[in-house]
Amino acid sequence: MWERGEEIVATRLAGVDPLLEAGRESNSARPGGGGAHDGGDPQRILAEVFGYPEFRDTQRSIIDCLIDGGDALVLMPTGGGKSLCYQIPALVRPGCGVVISPLIALMQDQVAALRQSGVRAASLNSAQPAAAIQATERALLAGELDLVYVAPERLVLPRTLDLFERSGIALFAIDEAHCVSQWGHDFRPEYIQLSILAERFPGVPRIALTATADGPTRREIVTRLRLEQARQFISPFDRPNIRYRIAQSDAGGGSARNRLLRFIRDEHSGEAGIVYCLSRKRVDAIADWLSAQGVLALPYHAGMTAAERERNQTRFLKEEGVVMVATIAFGMGIDKPNVRFVAHLNLPKSVEAYYQETGRAGRDGLPADAWMLYGLQDVITLRQMLEQSGADDGHKRIERHKLEAMLGLCELTTCRRQALLAYFGDDLPEPCGNCDTCLDPPATWDATEPARKALSCVYRTGERFGVNHLIDVLRGKRNERVQGLGHHRLTTFGIGADIEIAEWRGIFRQLIARGLLRVDVEGHGSLKLDQSCLPLLRGESTLQLRRETRAASPVPARSAHKRVAASDFDPEDQALWEALRACRRRLADAQGVPPYVIFHDSTLADMVNIAPVTQDELSEVSGVGMAKLERYGDEFLAVIRGHLGL
Ligand code: ADP
Ligand code: ZN
Repeated sequence: MWERGEEIVATRLAGVDPLLEAGRESNSARPGGGGAHDGGDPQRILAEVFGYPEFRDTQRSIIDCLIDGGDALVLMPTGGGKSLCYQIPALVRPGCGVVISPLIALMQDQVAALRQSGVRAASLNSAQPAAAIQATERALLAGELDLVYVAPERLVLPRTLDLFERSGIALFAIDEAHCVSQWGHDFRPEYIQLSILAERFPGVPRIALTATADGPTRREIVTRLRLEQARQFISPFDRPNIRYRIAQSDAGGGSARNRLLRFIRDEHSGEAGIVYCLSRKRVDAIADWLSAQGVLALPYHAGMTAAERERNQTRFLKEEGVVMVATIAFGMGIDKPNVRFVAHLNLPKSVEAYYQETGRAGRDGLPADAWMLYGLQDVITLRQMLEQSGADDGHKRIERHKLEAMLGLCELTTCRRQALLAYFGDDLPEPCGNCDTCLDPPATWDATEPARKALSCVYRTGERFGVNHLIDVLRGKRNERVQGLGHHRLTTFGIGADIEIAEWRGIFRQLIARGLLRVDVEGHGSLKLDQSCLPLLRGESTLQLRRETRAASPVPARSAHKRVAASDFDPEDQALWEALRACRRRLADAQGVPPYVIFHDSTLADMVNIAPVTQDELSEVSGVGMAKLERYGDEFLAVIRGHLGL
C-alpha cells in the first residue's frame, strides 16, 4: 500500500511541489482515480473523500449555491464545518479553488490534512522558498491542483492575479472574512484590497466565511467584499458540546492558579487546552508555575519573538496534551479540533471576545469546557482600562456597553447559554442543562440591607476610597488609616461586622457589575455612587444577589459530563483507545504532521466503540474516507484485531 501511494506520487506529482517530496501525500484514493474535477456528486465526495455519512445543517445548501455559480456569505460558529462548504464545490467545479487565509503558519496544516484525504492541495505564501512557489504555479497552470491556499497580500500581487486568470479558477473562498472590518479586533488592511476579485473575476463564485460577525460587521463584509448579490447563510450560534462555567474568585476555594491546576488535573489531565490571561507577565508566570507542577504548559504572547511563538504554536498543534497559556494574541484560525478546554483567568472585554475564545474548545463536537474565574479586581481593572483609554466618547460608550453585557453574563443566576445566545439574537427556548447555573443553580438572597450599608458607606466616606478601606470601615476595623481619617466616628462604622470580608467583596463586585457603583478613573479604584443606586439607597427598591458559594471548586460534579476522552472508557476499551492513539502518533511523527490530520479523536473513539475488523467495517467509521482507508486502514485494523486477539 505504501509503495503504491509513493509510486503514484512519484509519477504524478514529482517536481510539482517540494512539500510533496516526503512522498507520503499520495492522492491515490481520489474518487474517479484521482482525475481532476470529475465533477461528481457532493454527497459521494463527502463520503469517499472525507469519510462522513451526511452533511450538517446548511452545508449542502451552501455547496449547491456555489456549484451553481452563486456567491455566499457564511456565518457559522467555530467547529460548524465551514471548510467543506468551499472544499467540496472546489472539487466539483472545473478549475482550482483559491482559499484566502490570513494565517500562513496554519496553511501548512490545512494543506497537509487535505492531502491526507487525497485532495491535491498546495499553498502560496511568502514563507516558502521560490522553488516551491514556482512548482505550485506550474501545477496550477497544468490543472493539477484542486485547492490552493494563499495569503491575502500575495493574492493581490499582479503576478498572482495574472496566474489565476490564466489557470482557471473554480471559486474564491475568503476565510476569516471579519478581518475586513476596520472596527473588529482582527482588522487586516490587506483584506480591503480583496474587492478586486469582484472586478477581475466577475464570473467566479466567491464565498466569505466567518465565525464572528454582528450586524454591522456583516454589512461591512458585504460592501467591502462586494457581496451584495451573495446569499447569506447564518447558522445558529449554539455550541451545545461546550459546558460554560464561570466562578467567582472572591468566594474562596484557593488561589486562582491552584483552582486552575485542580481543574486541569481533575478534569483534563493529559489533554490539550488554552488558558487565557490578560498580561504577558501573568502568562509567563502561570506557564512556568503549571510546568513546575507537571503540566505540559507553554507560553504565547506578543512579547515573545516570532520564532518562539511559532515553535510553541507548532508544539500545541502537533503534540497531544499541550496546554497553551496565552494572551488574546493566540488563537485566531487555530483549528485544532481536540482542544478540550478553554480557561480564562481574567474577564474578557466583551461577550463577543468570550464567545470567540471559548469557541476554540471542542471543535470536534465532543464535550469540552469553557471555564472562567473572575473577581472584583477584574471588574475594577477593566473599568479603569476602559475609562483611561484614548478612545472618543462614542467609542467608549460602546465598549462600556459591551463590558456591561459581559459582567451581566458572569453575574447571571439563570442559564448562561440562553443569555449568550440571546446576545447574538438567537433564541433557546429551554435552559440548556449544560452550564453551571443549570447544573448547580445558584441561590440568591435578599441583599437589600447590606447593599444599602455599602452604598451609604461609600457616600459617608466622600466617594474617595477603594473597596478594601470601605470594607474595613463597614467591619469596624480600628486600624491606623481608619482612625487617621476619623472614619471610626462615621455612622457606618462597624455596621457590617457580621459579614465576612470575602462576602463583602462579593457584594461590592456585584454592585459594580450592576452599575450601581462606578470605579473612579483618577482615584486608584475609588468607588462613586451611580444615579441608578438612588432608589435602593432611599429604600424604594430591593436587591437580590447571587449567594457566593465557598465550594472548593467552581465545578458541578464531573460525573454528569459525558465524555469520550480517555477517562470515559472502561479499562478494556481504554487499552484499545491508547493503542489506537499510539498508532496515530507513530504515523503522524513519521510524516511530521499533527496527529489529528491522520484521524480525529472522534474517529478513534468510534473505532473503539464499533471495533471494526474488516476494511468494509472500518469504512463505516465517521471520518474514514477512501484515501485514509487505503493508506492507514491496515495499520489500525491490525491494532484492533490484535486487541481482540484475532
Ligand atoms: P470551522 O472552519 O467552521 O470552524 P471545520 O471546517 O474545521 O469548522 O470543521 C470542524 C470539524 O467538523 C472538522 O473536524 C470537520 O472535519 C468536521 N465536519 C465538518 N463537516 C462535517 C460533517 N458533515 N460530518 C462530520 N464531520 C464534519
Ligand atoms: Zn444552561
